[in-house]
Amino acid sequence: MSSLCPQPGGKDDELFWRALSEKVAGRRIPFSGSLALTHRCNLGCVHCYAREGCTEAAGGELAIQQWKKIIGELKAAGCLYLLLTGGEPLLREDFPEIYSFAKQNGFLVSVFTNGTLVDEKILELFSSLPPRLVEISLYGASAGTHDRVTGAPGSFAAAMRALDRLLARGIKVSLKSVLLTLNADDMPAVEELARRRNVQFRLDAAVFPSLEGDRSPLGLRVLPEQAVELEMADPERRREWQEFLAAFAGMPDAGGLFNCGSGVNTFHVDPQGWMYPCLMVRSPRYSLVRGSFQEGWSREFTAFRSLAAAMPCRDCEQKLLCGYCPGFFELENNDPRVPSQYLCAIGKLRFARITRDPAEGE
Ligand code: SF4
Ligand code: SF4
Repeated sequence: MSSLCPQPGGKDDELFWRALSEKVAGRRIPFSGSLALTHRCNLGCVHCYAREGCTEAAGGELAIQQWKKIIGELKAAGCLYLLLTGGEPLLREDFPEIYSFAKQNGFLVSVFTNGTLVDEKILELFSSLPPRLVEISLYGASAGTHDRVTGAPGSFAAAMRALDRLLARGIKVSLKSVLLTLNADDMPAVEELARRRNVQFRLDAAVFPSLEGDRSPLGLRVLPEQAVELEMADPERRREWQEFLAAFAGMPDAGGLFNCGSGVNTFHVDPQGWMYPCLMVRSPRYSLVRGSFQEGWSREFTAFRSLAAAMPCRDCEQKLLCGYCPGFFELENNDPRVPSQYLCAIGKLRFARITRDPAEGE
């Protein structure tokens, strides 16, 4: 599972999410989707997966009426969770109208943002129509580190201001970071910053090529050993991994290439209205400008799920721990059946660490 997979927004949400997932298991109900309202961004993060589109010039975005039509179709199809993401979704001047429309239609709406554009108007909007979660990307515990990753002086101060102003309004916020050679030393301090504010923090080492195939972000990955070491330095996270493995190990695996909700319970729509099974899986795709959600969902999004998993992933005991994701494999290796050696190494190291005899100590 990647940090971009649909997932619960914290412990409170987790029980409901799990119950719902069990209820829809085996049924093709698109209960969770992400809408990338734009690929434009006001920052220029070194590792960004939408980097080709991260310019003011990137055009061709759906107009608000087109987004409203899609949101209406999603409601009719039984969708409940919507993530509004980008690029930077708050760059769209009509963001408040799209957001309000989704909320007024009963969706549980989350927003991924870099935080820099959270102004009084957005605070008022979120106060009157509370989001399920606002997730802010924070790439360091200081301006020196964060702004080096974003390439934008002042972005750390703006993100921190947004974090504290949202929390002061009682809005649920979490923090997310990507582990890079540029910011690894800062991560314990970012975790501490999150802990002091009592907000959830997600750290992801799984840097992947841009959606357009630029592989330069891969040069920013830390060694798998360093990633796992950092992760397991937190006893609570180690315990969470142990509990996760204990809860899900031995669960039947049908041997399909995809063992996630991609195209079964989840979907992703890009700024031009192309629908994908999730953000990572680039094929099949279907234009929601030319056709309806229901047509695309029922006609186009079934065949890819019948592919079988390839060795060595089939029956691999570390599959729960490596972040197994055929979409990630395809972006990295141009083939969803060829595992990422990086994720594979992380899976093996995690397995070794969490199954180590406790008598050996930390
Ligand atoms: S640990 Fe490696 S072999 Fe096992 S499932 Fe993950 S990528 Fe495949
Ligand atoms: S293919 Fe599955 S595991 Fe990978 S990002 Fe999509 S939903 Fe997540």
